[in-house]
Amino acid sequence: MGYIPRGDVAANAALYRDVHRLSGLAQALEDRDSEDKEPTTMKEFAKILDWSKDDISQVHRNYAADDIRMISELWKIFTAAHYINEQLRRESAAYVALWITDGQPGASDEFRLNALLPLGIIDGTGDAYGGGKKPCAGCKRSLPRNCFSRNAWENVGKCHVCRAVGLRINRQDTIARNRSCYDSDDDGYGYGYGGYESGSDF
Ligand SMILES: [Zn+2]
Repeated sequence: MGYIPRGDVAANAALYRDVHRLSGLAQALEDRDSEDKEPTTMKEFAKILDWSKDDISQVHRNYAADDIRMISELWKIFTAAHYINEQLRRESAAYVALWITDGQPGASDEFRLNALLPLGIIDGTGDAYGGGKKPCAGCKRSLPRNCFSRNAWENVGKCHVCRAVGLRINRQDTIARNRSCYDSDDDGYGYGYGGYESGSDF
């Protein structure tokens, strides 16, 4: 199952032009056929580890060590492929700055805690070009016209990314309702802080 309902992506391709899926470290390594195939068992902890505690456990340390190992491996691959250039540094800085200025999202803030890249980082949609900005009804970021459909812009609706996240939330609600009807105990799989869900693209 794709991250976003495939039918909507096919029917509204123009609304997805600037919507990009973020991969977790393990998925990024897998996508690049890395020889570092050491399986990570840490993903299951992404949702439950509390990093605000003073006293961190061995599981915390293992999780952090796992991330460092994967970051080093990806750095080697990206450097060899000449991916690390000025543009990437600028975009990375813009992405990190978002988290610093807006703070970390709460666990229930699904429009800011999800696996899609916020608009305006790599797509050039961040500039208003004199047309002003409006707050998105989902992520609450102030964004220019080209981040919204015409209807969303006129009615203070959701940006392209939050529209897609909203579709995912609706689908998950429907799945949850159907599950409870059939009394299934099959647990859904989500994503957590810093550990994005892997899977097929869209
Ligand atoms: Zn938004």
